[in-house]
Amino acid sequence: MMWPVVSPDRAFSPCRRWLVSMNTHELWEAVLGEMELKVSKAHFTTWFQKTFVSEYRSGEVVIGVPNTITQQWLSKKHHRDILETIQNITNQAVRSLTYRIESRSTAPQPLVLEEKKPAIPQEQIEDYGFVSVGINAETGGSGTITVNPSYTFQTFVVGKQNELAHAAAQAVAAQPGGTYNPLFIYGGVGLGKTHLLHGIANEMRRRNPSVRILYVTCERFTNDFINAIRSGKGKEFKDRYRNVDLLLIDDIQFITGKEGTQEEFFHTFNALHQDQKQIVISSDRPPKSIASLEKRLQSRLEWGMLVDVGLPDLETRIAILGRKCIEKAFPLDREILHYVASNIYSNVRELEGALNKIIAVHQFRNIQPTLDTIKPVIASFESENVRKTVTPRQLISIVSEYFDITIDDILGKSREKKLAFPRQIIMYLMREEMKTSYPAIGGELGGRDHTTAMHAYGKIADLLKTDEKLQKDLELIKQKLYAG
Ligand code: ADP
Ligand code: MG
Repeated sequence: MMWPVVSPDRAFSPCRRWLVSMNTHELWEAVLGEMELKVSKAHFTTWFQKTFVSEYRSGEVVIGVPNTITQQWLSKKHHRDILETIQNITNQAVRSLTYRIESRSTAPQPLVLEEKKPAIPQEQIEDYGFVSVGINAETGGSGTITVNPSYTFQTFVVGKQNELAHAAAQAVAAQPGGTYNPLFIYGGVGLGKTHLLHGIANEMRRRNPSVRILYVTCERFTNDFINAIRSGKGKEFKDRYRNVDLLLIDDIQFITGKEGTQEEFFHTFNALHQDQKQIVISSDRPPKSIASLEKRLQSRLEWGMLVDVGLPDLETRIAILGRKCIEKAFPLDREILHYVASNIYSNVRELEGALNKIIAVHQFRNIQPTLDTIKPVIASFESENVRKTVTPRQLISIVSEYFDITIDDILGKSREKKLAFPRQIIMYLMREEMKTSYPAIGGELGGRDHTTAMHAYGKIADLLKTDEKLQKDLELIKQKLYAG
């Protein structure tokens, strides 16, 4: 359990006393603490960063948001979650929840509570589904772009882990050079970054066949640049890269260490951005984690919109597999799709690879696929790094052992540094690795306050940025956690 949740018709709840002194700022902090657990980091930063409770009056809540996009996104995607979280924390019915564009100017207001209002019945809470628009992509024109016509928004299966990236990519294709410039998409291999980049190109081309698009890998950009310098064709290079409406650079992480290329990219970026031409970039990590990336370039890359693509969940993997089967005209039973998607979860590319192998094996032997015939094919594909599920108890025990202290000491009252630091590491790992809520973390560690857990998380996260010894320690602890 996270916060004390008590049925609203109970006259007195344990959290009421605490609530009396709560203000809008503290309420929102608590709501954000819960929302952070429910959405990805990029998502959280993008949509919740500049929000606050502007008014809380007798169950009528107004959330301040920085712009229309945030207003729409929150009301469409997170309305119910926000509403329920506020109700749980305040133990008060929320009668209306609205989002107003404003910047935070007023000091936090005390909550104006009202007693004994029944909570809104579930069915009256409006549930907006976010409509993702499927578009029939066609490739048109005889442009010079080397874009894969089958990588469209329509062939991209949307799940929780990529919906933000997908939505941002669609927004960019509909309104290039607007708010999301540059669009920076990052995530591990085989998770659909290139697909989305091509999707934007295909969609922009569909809307306007004369649009000028240039898609390159970082490697190609680098080679082009080096060749241009060598052959004295700097002007041609500039003409090529700066006279476009959309520039897509795939896998920008390879720019690390190439100073001349970074310099040139910086100028290309500025020229395009100034002309409100759209720039879309993909990478396997966020800008600040790209080693030896010039600071000024890093900040440029963070100007627009940063979105991540994560590992799709089982349902999404099944849907992706189903879609690929249709594309390849090789139908498989749902039972088989389920089996393949449950056993292959490292990335989509591998999933597709497994499907290709299944197709090849079955076509070659000219047999109908059944669970029995596909199992041996899948066996060779099974991902090696299976993550064990770890319980809070196991975590506490592993960290205690690592620092050579007893579990009783960890859970005890002493604040000696020798004990406090491992305790903070445990709190950090519970949050980071297990997505445990702060109150629950406090509970696991001998009934400590949730603010202690929040503080510990912040402190370790901060230290980790610079402290190499700590980085190493955590690496080893994680290995112990997940090994064997
Ligand atoms: P990345 O560039 O992130 O390494 P890709 O875009 O090359 O990954 O994707 C690898 C393969 O997986 C491609 O064939 C792509 O079409 C497919 N793929 C990835 N994500 C999805 C998705 N959500 N829906 C459909 N296909 C996907
Ligand atoms: Mg790629």
